[in-house]
Amino acid sequence: RLQGLCLRHVSSTRRNGAASHQQRRLLSQFISKAPPQADTPYTQTPFTLAVKDNIATTTQPLPTTTCASPFLTTYHSPFEATIVTQLRARGARLVGKTNLDEFGMGSHSTHSAFGAVSQTLPPGGGGEYSAGGSSGGSAVAVAAGEANVALGTDTGGSVRLPAAYTGVVGFKPSYGMLSRHGVVPYANSLDTVGLLARGVEEIRGLVVGGAGLWREHDPRDPTSLSEAARGRCVGAREGYGGGVDGRKPEEVLRGVNFGIPLEYNVEELDPRIRDAWAAAAAALQKLGARIVPVSLPTTRHALSAYYIIAPAEASSNLAKYDGVRYGSRASDTDAGSSDGGVLYAASRGRGFGGEVQRRILLGAYTLSSEAMDNYFIKAQKVRRLVRRDFDRAFALANPLLDEPEPFDLSDLLEDVPMENKLGPAGVDFLLCPTAPTLAPKLEDVVGAEGQSPVDAYVNDVFTVPASLAGLPAVSIPMRVAAEGGDENAPNTAGLQLIGQYWDDARLLAAAEAVM
Ligand code: GLN
Repeated sequence: RLQGLCLRHVSSTRRNGAASHQQRRLLSQFISKAPPQADTPYTQTPFTLAVKDNIATTTQPLPTTTCASPFLTTYHSPFEATIVTQLRARGARLVGKTNLDEFGMGSHSTHSAFGAVSQTLPPGGGGEYSAGGSSGGSAVAVAAGEANVALGTDTGGSVRLPAAYTGVVGFKPSYGMLSRHGVVPYANSLDTVGLLARGVEEIRGLVVGGAGLWREHDPRDPTSLSEAARGRCVGAREGYGGGVDGRKPEEVLRGVNFGIPLEYNVEELDPRIRDAWAAAAAALQKLGARIVPVSLPTTRHALSAYYIIAPAEASSNLAKYDGVRYGSRASDTDAGSSDGGVLYAASRGRGFGGEVQRRILLGAYTLSSEAMDNYFIKAQKVRRLVRRDFDRAFALANPLLDEPEPFDLSDLLEDVPMENKLGPAGVDFLLCPTAPTLAPKLEDVVGAEGQSPVDAYVNDVFTVPASLAGLPAVSIPMRVAAEGGDENAPNTAGLQLIGQYWDDARLLAAAEAVM
């Protein structure tokens, strides 16, 4: 059955012949699972779809949407997310809801009311490794062939990081492209719905190919780009095609400029990933692409800015979970009395897991009057600079900006090293790793001996810049040398391609050619 569901095996041979032990384990990655059914006759090619459990579904037997939170374990959404309806209309058959970090907050899918997600490497027995987060369950469902396509959410890397750790493809679209109606918000200004699959072509076909999700504005999502703005963005992209159309990789890639962001070569980067990144660039050059070093000087502040902005928005979003309007309510005995404040506090204290509580406290602090200027406002400034760095690097203009941002001398007078004060590099895409390390052992990330919260945040260092700028990005698997020649250790990492805003079609075509 697994083989029948596989669209295409990724480069890693260790996924071949997934054993039944692995399969059994993986069933637990689903929070709820639909029984097998005969395929409904669709006009389009049917495919199986797994849905991250912070995206609303209503169809039996998958009526709950839990966000992996103790607060929502019995929550039934009154409506289905637009993206699920859109995919069902395109031939999707829902096979299950997948496990995640509570409300999408985490990098290893270990902060869940249902227990941690894990992947067994090599399949069939071996070690338990992190599947990445927060869409870890979706990534594992795809890697194991339990679903052709999976939906995840990517706020700061939650589709790309699990894709990198599990050896599949993960795509985060331009912000505002795919509808978020029915997706439980984490940080509204950053949240996107992303897709995972074994190959780029399945995702490309659905988003920018024949199925054309990228054209559909959703009036029920206030952040969905308007029809008029979509028209303007597509207009700005005219003549750039985007299809692969059976062309050979060298035909697609000839003359394409890939920028290598020098600031991504950080100390924490695993040397094997650095080598594989360099090898990928060299291989692209052989295919006729040009490799250009670029500088994105604000990158080093992006992670800190993200971990101010995302928790701030989360603390505001999660205020509605009070045990009255949403979520399970603490009993009177728990609350001591049913008096308002006490009931709220008891419900929230019991209903949210530790990581979510940490984010709420962090967000509430950085938004407080004494901390606001120093944290939240500064982070917004960094966010603007991150976007400006990208706009300077790309050959294409950002279609959301009417004119280029005004030149600001004070930015240059800040402590930016001289070599970073270069003019525009004019590249088509940026090429960098998705994460600084391979999938760590599960035992090294959980428990008292495991990673500290800050260690876990560092996994997002290469994914958050594109999120802050709202840019499309895709992670494809890249083979790396196994540690100490140990064939049982993880041997795939993620290679990330980032494109200019609304350049998703060309980005996916390039990624398909690169893969
Ligand atoms: N790991 C990041 C965080 O915890 C990203 C999460 C996400 O993209 N949903 O915020």
